[in-house]
Amino acid sequence: MISLQLHGEQDLRLEDVQVAEVGKGDVKIKVAYNGICGSDLHFYYAASRSGWSRPRNIGHEISGVVAEVGSDVSDVSVGDRVSVYPIDSCGSCVQCVDGHPVLCEVLDRSVSTVGCGSPIGGMGEYCVVPNHLIIPLPDGLSLAQGALVEPIAVAATAVERAQLKADSVVVVSGGGPIGIGAVLSLEAMGITNFVVSEPSEARRAALTNLTSARVIDPTSEDLPAIVRELSGGRGADVVLECAGAGAAFDAALAIVRKRGKIVMIGLFEKPYQLLPNGIALNEISIVGHNGSTQDVFRTVMRWMEEGKIPTDSWVTYVPLAESVEGGFEPLRRGEEIKVLVDIAGSSSEE
Ligand SMILES: [Zn+2]
Ligand SMILES: [Zn+2]
Repeated sequence: MISLQLHGEQDLRLEDVQVAEVGKGDVKIKVAYNGICGSDLHFYYAASRSGWSRPRNIGHEISGVVAEVGSDVSDVSVGDRVSVYPIDSCGSCVQCVDGHPVLCEVLDRSVSTVGCGSPIGGMGEYCVVPNHLIIPLPDGLSLAQGALVEPIAVAATAVERAQLKADSVVVVSGGGPIGIGAVLSLEAMGITNFVVSEPSEARRAALTNLTSARVIDPTSEDLPAIVRELSGGRGADVVLECAGAGAAFDAALAIVRKRGKIVMIGLFEKPYQLLPNGIALNEISIVGHNGSTQDVFRTVMRWMEEGKIPTDSWVTYVPLAESVEGGFEPLRRGEEIKVLVDIAGSSSEE
C-alpha cells in the first residue's frame, strides 16, 4: 500500500509498504481521512522523538471503513464506518481505572499511541488497529467528521478539566489546530464569555466565521486590556494555552486572574526562560493536559450529530501525495487551521 513515511526532520516520503498482519483482536481499516495534528508538525519540523526508529508511520486522527476483522472481533463488521481512539492503555492500572488512559502506568506512552510512537499510523491506505481502539461512527456523521473527532476531543477533555462555570471568563491562547478544538468545545458547551488570541490573520478570519467570541491579534491589540474589560477588571478565570510558545505563556500569566487557572494543552518545541514568581504570588494553578478519553470522543460525536460542530470554513482537504506542500507547510506557516489528508479520495464524494 502507499503510505507517507517519516524518515527524519523535514523528510516525509510516499512509499510502497507492507500492510500489517491482522491479528485475532485487530481491525483493518481502509483509511478515508487522516488529519494533520500539531504533534505531527513537531515530529516533522522538530524531530521531537529522536529515539524513534526510521522510517515510521505517523497519523493518529483517523477515519475509514472496516476492510477486515480478526477472528476474535464480533462487535465491528466489514463495511462499518469508524474512527480510531489513538491512546492505547492497559485498562486496569490505577490511572486507567481513574479514567486517565493517556497516563497508563503499564504501557509506555512513547511507543503505544497510534501515530505518535506505536507502529500504527493513519497516513496510508490501510491501518490495522486493536479493536478496543475502534469507535464506530454514528449514522449521521461523515467520514470527514470522523477524522475531526480526535483533535476536538483533546481540546474538549482539556476544557472539561478547566471546570468552567457558565459565566467563566476564558481566553483561548492560540487558534491553530488545537485552539480551534477549544473554541468549538466552548461553543458547544454554551460558554460565551471568551476571547481567542491568534496572531495569524488567515486563522483569525476563519475563526471569526465559527464563533461569536472576540478574535484578536495579540501583536497589535491590547489583550490584557480586553480581558480586563470582559472580566470587570479581574482577569481571565481560565486561560486555555494552546500555542506552546514562550510569549503566549507569558501573556497567559499576565491575563489570568488571581487564583485563576492556566490549562496547558499546546506543547513547546524548546525551553524558554520564565521568572515564575507570579504563579506563586498570585496563587495561579497550572494544569497540564494531554490526550482525551473515549467518553469525550463520544460526546464530541454527539455534538456533531446535534450540528454543534461546524466543519466548513476551517478544514482543508489535500490528497496524500500533496500532504507536505498542501498540509504540513501551510500549517507551519499558520495559513491553515486543520488539514485533512484525503487518502481514499472521499472528499469529492461527500
Ligand atoms: Zn491530534
Ligand atoms: Zn493502564
